[in-house]
Amino acid sequence: MQEIKTDLLIIGAGPGGLNAALYARRAGLDFEIVENMMAGGQITNTASIENYLGFKDDISGYQLAQNLSEHCRRFDIKVREYFTVDSIELVNTKKKDKSYHFKCIGNEKPIWTNSVIMATGASPGKLNVKGESGLIGKGISFCATCDGALYRDREVAVAGGGDTAIEEAIFLTKFVKKVYVIHRRNELRAVKILRDRAINNKKIEFLWSSVIEGFTGNDRLEEVLVRNKKENKTYKLKVDGVFEYIGLKPNSKLVKDLVKLDEKGFIMTNSQMEASLPGIFAVGDVRNTPLRQVITAVADGAVAAMYVDKFLSKSAERLPS
Ligand code: NAP
Repeated sequence: MQEIKTDLLIIGAGPGGLNAALYARRAGLDFEIVENMMAGGQITNTASIENYLGFKDDISGYQLAQNLSEHCRRFDIKVREYFTVDSIELVNTKKKDKSYHFKCIGNEKPIWTNSVIMATGASPGKLNVKGESGLIGKGISFCATCDGALYRDREVAVAGGGDTAIEEAIFLTKFVKKVYVIHRRNELRAVKILRDRAINNKKIEFLWSSVIEGFTGNDRLEEVLVRNKKENKTYKLKVDGVFEYIGLKPNSKLVKDLVKLDEKGFIMTNSQMEASLPGIFAVGDVRNTPLRQVITAVADGAVAAMYVDKFLSKSAERLPS
């Protein structure tokens, strides 16, 4: 099996990783970009993106992801898709000149690299309640764009009160008869423009101060066990589908023993996107950013590529030959 040797390995081909690749190409860096699925990242599951400057008409997440990939291909950037990195090992430390080498092992060939940009994003969190695991894909979903149309004229529920939950609840009203938004507090976390739209949407009913305690159903979801915290009453809600949008879990496992993570597991970086170990950078949703948006991930990617360039030019050591 032939090894790959490179100066920079970008892990993840969502907006942050792809833009890091574009800037790395323009800086003339020797780099590889790998992705464990298809290029595009989480936005491919987003029905519509309306706050990415420059796209004055609504654009679907899928289409935006296609545009980002095509833009990169124009600069001869080839994403190694379905390439999983399972571990990153620090193989050589020279404290004096701050040069580090990493060996990345994956499902294909090993990659030796002088630097890594973690653009691995985040994955949807789960409620972890009774009955949930057996009903995923049988009424419980994490993607309204993928599964929403299956619930035409039915009643569904959305769990969560953040931007994703509210955006996707509004999207679901295109198909369904009714959406219950089950939120654990009595006010939404989502931004005002989304809050207002949802509150004025007649197909959406809010179940405030309510939590999901479990799901029932054999082959398909039948009922949701909802507890109203204020009244401390539990009741069964009959819906055909539940979409869980209760926040994100960072995909930072690869570097958990190498760099500092915050209390939720997001990679801590400085404003140059450098993590606590020189040579490791992080961009987009996986880092402890104050704002998780396509535009911030893309900007992170540009900054990271620029500082990887500076880092590499400072490093005297090169790859083991
Ligand atoms: P989020 O902002 O973290 O919101 C998660 C929601 O789920 C919150 O309402 C939270 O309740 C609730 N929640 C968390 N754990 C729960 C649990 N165990 N049980 C019940 N409810 C629970 O996550 P997100 O909406 O996925 O957004 C992630 C990031 O992406 C955010 O930075 C967001 O702004 C961004 N985003 C932006 C856009 C956009 O700009 N168009 C679209 C989507 C996402 P509390 O409110 O009580 O904490």
